[in-house]
Amino acid sequence: MTHAMEAERAVRAIDLDAVNADLDQADPLRIIRWSVETFAPRLGVSSSFGAESACLLHLVVQVWPQAPVLFINTGFLFEETLAFRDQLVERLGLNVVEFRPQIPTGQFLAERGELWKTDPDACCAVNKVEPMQRAVEGYDAWMSGIRRDQSSARADTPIVRRLGTGLFKISPIANWSTRQIHEHLRDNKLPYHPLYEKGYLSIGCTHCTRAVGAGGDARSGRWAGQGKTECGLHTMLGEKKDKGAGI
Ligand code: SF4
Repeated sequence: MTHAMEAERAVRAIDLDAVNADLDQADPLRIIRWSVETFAPRLGVSSSFGAESACLLHLVVQVWPQAPVLFINTGFLFEETLAFRDQLVERLGLNVVEFRPQIPTGQFLAERGELWKTDPDACCAVNKVEPMQRAVEGYDAWMSGIRRDQSSARADTPIVRRLGTGLFKISPIANWSTRQIHEHLRDNKLPYHPLYEKGYLSIGCTHCTRAVGAGGDARSGRWAGQGKTECGLHTMLGEKKDKGAGI
């Protein structure tokens, strides 16, 4: 049996309930080590280079310095986000792999107009979900920085989830509180996104991100007033519930 076949059989045999029982309250580094031992090299880590993205990326590169960092550039990101990406590449030596929508931004605007206002799900499908589908092609699993205390929709996020497509999604910092994230960033002298201090606690596209008032849910500044909380990966990547589905 080849190494690839052995790896495939090992992945198929994963007992998700046992893994989640074991890792539910585990330290993120232990979860990342398990992920790398189980899935690498068919493993990536997604990052939007958002408010606190430095935390997960810093943890991941301690275990696997060359981990592919899957970055979806929708064409509608803040300039500060791209500058923050470059800053973290320099600081952490990240191996960023960028994916863009198949329709260039100018063409999208000419053909679809301000689609994020009229049909944000369709806009995300073209500009976020489809590129993410391409990003994870050929992978068995990817790690994401979502956390249980970010919003009520993410409160039940398991450490490891198997999507309908068979792909595993791992959330190594799901069990960390906002306070633990801040402590990790402070203790390791890691930067926040430049807009964080202006009240942007969760940062995506310019059209769909607002600053959050004091005490607000970190995700409430995303698609504010549109009844939308996630970008739609849950359905497009075969996830059944709208819990913990975001990039
Ligand atoms: S976050 Fe907004 S602008 Fe970005 S892809 Fe989704 S709907 Fe479009």
